[in-house]
Amino acid sequence: MPTRAGTASTIAIHGIVTITSITWEGVIRILLVEDNPDLARRLAEGLRGAGFVVEWAADGQTGYALGGSENFDAVILDLGLPDMKGVDVLKRWRQVGREMPVLILTARGSWTEKVEGLNAGADDYVTKPSHIQEITARLRALIRRSAGKPMPTLVHNDIELSPASGTVTVGGNPIELTAQEFRILNYFMHQRGRVISQSQLLDHLYSLETERDPNTIEVYVARLRRKLGRDSIKTLRGLGYRFG
Ligand code: CA
Repeated sequence: MPTRAGTASTIAIHGIVTITSITWEGVIRILLVEDNPDLARRLAEGLRGAGFVVEWAADGQTGYALGGSENFDAVILDLGLPDMKGVDVLKRWRQVGREMPVLILTARGSWTEKVEGLNAGADDYVTKPSHIQEITARLRALIRRSAGKPMPTLVHNDIELSPASGTVTVGGNPIELTAQEFRILNYFMHQRGRVISQSQLLDHLYSLETERDPNTIEVYVARLRRKLGRDSIKTLRGLGYRFG
C-alpha cells in the first residue's frame, strides 16, 4: 500500500484542529468521524494515548471519502453529523464493499439509533458520553475479530485494484502507479459512474497534505489515462471527471 510510510504529517481538516499522523506497517490506524470539535479532540487524544494513529473527519462527506479510499483498521462514526446521516455514510461504505470494523457513537437512550446503525452494518456501538477506556477496548476487540479478513479487490472492466496490497493490474498485467495516482484511481473506482469535480479530487488528495494545486489534478488524470487507456476517465467540461 503506498501510504506515506514512515513519514509524519500534520493535517488540518476544516481548519479546526491539527492531528499528527504517522503511518507505517504495524500501526493501528483509526478514522474518527465526529462533528463536535471538542469531543473529537478529546477522543483523538485518548486514542493516541492508547497508541492508535487517528485521522479526523469533521463531517460525513469527508469521512465517507477518507473511509472509502484509505485503509483504516477501524472507524469510530458519530451518527449525528451535520451534512449527512452517519447511518448513510456507513450504508454507502458497505455498498461499495468497504468492510472495515465500524464502532458507532449513539446518543444516550436512543435504542432506535443503535438498531438502525447495527442494521446498516455497524460492528458495535458505544453510547455518548463514554469512557475512552471502553472505546479503546471495543476497538481492539473489533480489530482482533476482523484480522485476517481479506479486503475486497475493486474491479472495473479489465482494471483491478487491490486496496490491501496497493497493486493495480490492467488485463492481468501489473502497472506502476505513484502513491497519488493510486489514491486518485482508488477514489475514482469507489465513485464509479459519478461526476467528480476537481475540487472533490483536491479535497481528497490534499486533506492530508498542506498544499493544494489544481493543476496537479490534470497532470495526474493525464498520467492515469496513459496507463489505463485514454477512455478510462472522461472529462466533462465545466463539471469535472467521470470514471467508468
Ligand atoms: Ca454529532
